[in-house]
Amino acid sequence: MLLSRLQLGGIALLTLLLLLTHAYLSRWRPTTSAAAPPVPRLPPFAGCAPTSVELLPRENGTILLLVREADLPQLLPTLRNFEHRFNARFRYPYVLLSAPDEPPFSAHFRAKIAEAVHPGATLEFGTVPREHWRIPDWLDEEEVRQGFAKQAAKGVQYGGREGYHHMCRFYSGLFARHELLQKYEWYWRLEPGVRFYCSVTYDPFRFLAQRNQTYGFVITLIDDLNTLPSLFPTVERYVQESGTVPTDMWDFFTRAKNGQKGYSASFPPLPFLLAAPCLSLLKLEGKYLPVNADRCHFWTNFEIGHLPFFRSQPYQDLFDALDRSGGFYTERWGDAPVRTIALGLLEGADKVHYFEDFAYRHDWFMHCPERKELGCECVPIPRLAGCVVLHVC
Ligand code: GDP
Ligand code: MN
Repeated sequence: MLLSRLQLGGIALLTLLLLLTHAYLSRWRPTTSAAAPPVPRLPPFAGCAPTSVELLPRENGTILLLVREADLPQLLPTLRNFEHRFNARFRYPYVLLSAPDEPPFSAHFRAKIAEAVHPGATLEFGTVPREHWRIPDWLDEEEVRQGFAKQAAKGVQYGGREGYHHMCRFYSGLFARHELLQKYEWYWRLEPGVRFYCSVTYDPFRFLAQRNQTYGFVITLIDDLNTLPSLFPTVERYVQESGTVPTDMWDFFTRAKNGQKGYSASFPPLPFLLAAPCLSLLKLEGKYLPVNADRCHFWTNFEIGHLPFFRSQPYQDLFDALDRSGGFYTERWGDAPVRTIALGLLEGADKVHYFEDFAYRHDWFMHCPERKELGCECVPIPRLAGCVVLHVC
């Protein structure tokens, strides 16, 4: 069927817009410091290519999970998939933590986990300390609980769930103090329900370590503003009072857009939305940075991090200041925006790596690499549909 003149005009306009956007973004360069020296990558692989011992030695890393006994049905397929796609070859140990308001992991749970992972896997089971999983002393418990009900009534996602507030606070900073993590230098966070669609045939811990990097991610999302109305002002106050000198990535996260600043209510300008690779980022000078800084955050259910950074005084001081302000409870600050803000404030862009070659899915959000030679068993989501529908930045 012939297209009408109106439709042809529309297509021409859209093409022009994309070309202009591309030209604009090609010119656009962040003010970043010198890049880390490139690390030679293995040649492209297909599917489950066997990994060679060239990748030895291992790093001092662990796979970290905070789970409930009731998560077992989602957890077992995730562990089997994670082993198949990565850990049966690399054999990193696991740390599984339960919350103190849950029953301790049963013998049945432990046995099922042991069956799902490689034979002889190191499995450590622990509990989050009680003082890291309760409304802190400096807040009025009664008032906070009434606040949860108000958050729920206002439609703040998970705002009515006390456990969720604890979980976000824990992963925002307290996790790095857990005794079972003290002997490790790296963690890779995993959650029930996660699935990898192609094999990870190199060691991402080692990849980050060799590049002297701190953090790796696969997906970025835009947060619901109603979960964190006072987070950004609190952070700005902290920056001023502590005399923290932010890094080049901070400028990126806080660059004014639509006349507003930082984690504000602005929506990305249309050209950014059109050009934004779905569920991912733009490549800028060999690094990947989030396209839309406003409220955009690294989605932390996948993350690989260097623990000395998270245990460091600057990170823990920032976390403590946020914690003292009460926003993990009086609002529903997520660990993802907190992580993003902290990295933007304390670490340079060259310390963060986008694992765009990992095919990863959790809940409704998925990243599927477009390079066919990776042999991923997934289909990249059409960019535009994904970006608009899924609110991905
Ligand atoms: P989402 O990915 O942000 O939707 O959060 P999830 O519900 O997947 O929670 C992330 C992790 O924290 C999961 O592994 C859960 O088992 C754990 N978690 C979440 N909420 C609670 C809670 O209320 N209590 C406990 N003990 N764990 C929780
Ligand atoms: Mn989850």
